[in-house]
Amino acid sequence: MTSTITPQKRLREYTNNCLSINKKNELFCDSCKKSIDYKKKCSVTQHLETEVHTSNSKKLKTVPNINFNTDEFQENFKNNLIIWLSASDVPFDKLNKKTFKCFLNNYLRPVFKIPSSATL
Ligand SMILES: [Zn+2]
Repeated sequence: MTSTITPQKRLREYTNNCLSINKKNELFCDSCKKSIDYKKKCSVTQHLETEVHTSNSKKLKTVPNINFNTDEFQENFKNNLIIWLSASDVPFDKLNKKTFKCFLNNYLRPVFKIPSSATL
């Protein structure tokens, strides 16, 4: 009897270990930025026990988890944008300018929606 091991199955065995599945459908360690052989359970376990991984995962955990996707953040961003625009004497319709929007979108998308002057 053979059961097929998929990276997805392996991931379920090791939740909360900074593991994910990359585009090549490999088990991938987010903290070490490397793929792990998911077919052998011991290689996953071994990787998780390495000193490199332990220190990498600690580093990852100390990075504050900022959720830009909340309404509160979006609202704050909008308010600050208004303050900034007013303080710089920039008319609100400048937000609709393509170059300005592209500039903001390049840095903030997809987590942030850039308001148009109509929604301010
Ligand atoms: Zn790792």
